[in-house]
Amino acid sequence: MTAEVAVVGGGPAGLVCAIALAIAGVDTLVIAPPRGADNRTTALLAGSVTALQTLGVWEQCLPHAAPLRKIRLIDDTTRLLRAPEVLFDAAEIGLEAFGHNIENRHLLAALEARAAELKLARITAPALAVESDEAGVTIEHAGGTARVLLAIGADGARSLCRAAAGISSRRHTYPQTALTLNLGHARPHEDTSTEFHTESGPFTLVPLPGRRSSLVCVLDPETAQDLNTMTGPALAEEIEGRAHSLLGRMSVEPGRGLFPLAVESADAAARARIALVGEAAHVLPPIGAQGLNLGLRDGATLAEIVADARRGNMDVGAPEVLARYNGQRRADVMSRTVAVDVLNRSLLTGFIPAHAMRGLTLYLVDRIDPLRRALMREGVAPTLSQPRLMRGETV
Ligand SMILES: Cc1cc2nc3c(=O)[nH]c(=O)nc-3n(C[C@H](O)[C@H](O)[C@H](O)COP(=O)(O)OP(=O)(O)OC[C@H]3O[C@@H](n4cnc5c(N)ncnc54)[C@H](O)[C@@H]3O)c2cc1C
Repeated sequence: MTAEVAVVGGGPAGLVCAIALAIAGVDTLVIAPPRGADNRTTALLAGSVTALQTLGVWEQCLPHAAPLRKIRLIDDTTRLLRAPEVLFDAAEIGLEAFGHNIENRHLLAALEARAAELKLARITAPALAVESDEAGVTIEHAGGTARVLLAIGADGARSLCRAAAGISSRRHTYPQTALTLNLGHARPHEDTSTEFHTESGPFTLVPLPGRRSSLVCVLDPETAQDLNTMTGPALAEEIEGRAHSLLGRMSVEPGRGLFPLAVESADAAARARIALVGEAAHVLPPIGAQGLNLGLRDGATLAEIVADARRGNMDVGAPEVLARYNGQRRADVMSRTVAVDVLNRSLLTGFIPAHAMRGLTLYLVDRIDPLRRALMREGVAPTLSQPRLMRGETV
C-alpha cells in the first residue's frame, strides 16, 4: 500500500477530510492538481467554523472572515402572493453569529498551509483512473500509481471516483446561472446578510470584512451573460438598483464568475472501497449557504468513522465502514437537498399555490418565535448530523 487512504481532489471538502485524518494519525495521501482561481466566497455556518478551529485552520481564516449576525429574507417578486420580510438574529439563539463569510481563496490558502504544516503527502496531478477490488483501490496518476485501502472521492461534481465506484446520480439542471463577484459599498452592512428572492432566483449580499460584500445573483442564463459583459461602473449601478440601494453606492471588484445551477445527488455516499464527500456526493443551488457546509460535514463524519475503524484495527475500506458512512449521511444530505430544491422551485414556478405555501411558511416563521428559533438552531447545528469536529472534539 502507498498509504491507507487517498483523498482525490483538493477542494475544501477534501482538504478538511484529509487534515482531520492526518491529525488522527491515519496515513493519508492527497492526489490533487493545483486549483484555478475561485472568486466565490463561502458562508461557513457555526459548526463548520468550530471544525476549522479544531483542526487548527481557523486562526489563519479569521482576519479574512466577516461574522454573519443577522440574515434577512426579502420577497422581491412582483407576484400576487408575496412573503413577509423575515429577519433571523443569531442573538435570539444565544449566538454571537450564525457563522462567517470568507473568500474561497483565503479558506483554501489556510487549508493548504495547515496541510503543509502537517506534512500531508501530496501528488500534484489529477487521478487518471481509479479501480477498486476486494483488497484495495488502485489510482493511476500522471506520476505513477498509488494503492490504498480506501479512496475518498472529493473530486467535485464530475467525480471520477463516483463513476469508478459505479454510483449513479440524479441531476436536474435549473434554467438559472449564478453571477458571482465581490463589491465595495458606501454604507455598512452591519454584519447582516440579505437575500432578495426574485422571480429568477435569489440575489444575495453577504458581508465581507469592512465595507465589502460578496454577491451571488441568480438569473436566467442570458441575463447573467449580459450582466457579465458590462463594464465595472455599469454593473455596479445595475446591482445597486437590484439591491434597492440598501448598501448605498457600489463598486465592483475585479474577478467575476458564472455558475450554471443544478441539483444533483449520488445514489449512495460510498461503495466498493470508495467514499464520496462534497460535490462528488451532492450539488445544491446556492440558497441558504448549504452546499459546502454539508460537504464539510461529509468530510468530518468520514474522518471520524475511518479513525474509529483504525483504532479498532479494522480495514478502513471494509464494507461495514462504508455502510456506517452511508447510514450517517443519508438523512442530512436528503433533507437539505429537498429543502433547497423546493425553495428554489417555488421561486421559479408561476404556480400560485406554491407562492402561497412559501408565503405562509415565512409568515409563520416570522410570527412564531419558537418555530423561528428552532429553524435557526437547525440551520447552525443540524440535529441529524453533528460529527465530533463540529462539536469541537478531534476525530
Ligand atoms: C455561486 C455559488 C455560491 C456558493 N456559496 C456557498 C456558501 O456560501 N456556502 C456553502 O456552504 N456553499 C456554497 N456553495 C457551494 C460550494 O461552493 C461547494 O459546495 C464547494 O465548492 C464544493 O467543494 P468540494 O471540495 O466538494 O468540490 P470542488 O471545490 O469542486 O473541488 C473539487 C476538486 O477536485 C479536483 N479534481 C477533479 N477531478 C479530479 C481528479 N480526477 N483528480 C484529482 N483531483 C480532481 C478539482 O480540480 C477541484 O479542485 C456555493 C456554490 C456556488 C456555485
